[in-house]
Amino acid sequence: MNTLLTFIRSRYPDQKQIALHEPRFRGNEKRYVNDAIDSTFVSSVGEYVTRFEAMLQDITGAHYAVAVVNGTAALHMALLLANVKPGDLVLTQALSFVATANAITHANAEPVFLDIEKNTLGLDPDSLQLFLNANAEKRNKACFDKATGRRYAACVPMHTFGHPCRIETVLDICDEYGIPVVEDAAEALGSLWHERHCGTFGFMGVLSFNGNKIITTGGGGAIITNDEAVAIRAKHLTTTAKKPHPWLFEHDEIAYNYRMPNLNAALGCAQLEQLDGFIENKRVLAKEYSAFCVAEGLQFMEEPIGAYANYWLNSIFTKDRKDRDTFLALSNEQGIQTRPAWGLLPKQPMYTQCQCAPIPIALDVTERLVNIPSSVR
Ligand SMILES: *Cc1c(COP(=O)(O)O)cnc(C)c1O
Repeated sequence: MNTLLTFIRSRYPDQKQIALHEPRFRGNEKRYVNDAIDSTFVSSVGEYVTRFEAMLQDITGAHYAVAVVNGTAALHMALLLANVKPGDLVLTQALSFVATANAITHANAEPVFLDIEKNTLGLDPDSLQLFLNANAEKRNKACFDKATGRRYAACVPMHTFGHPCRIETVLDICDEYGIPVVEDAAEALGSLWHERHCGTFGFMGVLSFNGNKIITTGGGGAIITNDEAVAIRAKHLTTTAKKPHPWLFEHDEIAYNYRMPNLNAALGCAQLEQLDGFIENKRVLAKEYSAFCVAEGLQFMEEPIGAYANYWLNSIFTKDRKDRDTFLALSNEQGIQTRPAWGLLPKQPMYTQCQCAPIPIALDVTERLVNIPSSVR
């Protein structure tokens, strides 16, 4: 493990403190942000928002992108648009960032936690299939819990650390049960599964541009979809449901102030211009980590077969929890920032009452996984 720390230092030779993931602003960031300020359009209307959305469409291949204030808001909105109603159940994975479960709660629904797969770290289609076979039945094109009658209104798989999950298989199972899929692709901008961009398989996909993600708008998120009506509705509901008019302020329902400000979009446009370079840079680093780990007998998280990962955050697996904690302490003491996987969602106090399938893989991964420095160099 000490040799790994030396190796990490050699990858970031100029940095005394090595962050887990920090943004890089080496393009047109200052120019575009200044331009947005000069234009006076710094808030939720402006040319950079339009341009940012067009760039996202181009990169992901989605027909529509709607930029919003953050990834959590994007998830909340996507769930509402998927017709999630108060009291509904939403299937998701036990290992994710807390925002995934929080957004389900914001939609007044309740998460149901399933296991992940070892080689993708994403939702395990077998866990999903087993759970639905045991607990769910399809009635009138919708899916209900056999015991409680509550509706399974959506499924939210997540593409963990930029590694695509087996999304097509997840979709097939959900289709069979009549459950819409909202992909949490917050970490997966630029990641492909069978050459198609993550977030474009399900009913909707969600992206995040928080400061720690592969590109940043400071704070920001987006919904991507191929459905025009859904995209129009997403824009309407994230813009306080204001009826279009040059001067009248009339609104046709209770909605949200979730639009991304132009100032943030200006930063985002400059960042997106560099995305290809960022991914290339990160994939080279991942290859170097991988070769080092093979040589040293360490276990490195490789992109799943069939995937092209953005390698947002690199991960290794330690032998056990004790090894993990030793490595975490040692690295962080030396100014090399490392981090364990998130605490499992069903273990967080606000979610312990929720339904949870058997999750042996998530339990194992959360004990042994460590994220190691992954910033663009
Ligand atoms: C970052 C992230 C989000 C939320 O995005 P924010 O922009 O921080 O609100 C949601 N899900 C996952 C898996 C994330 O990593």
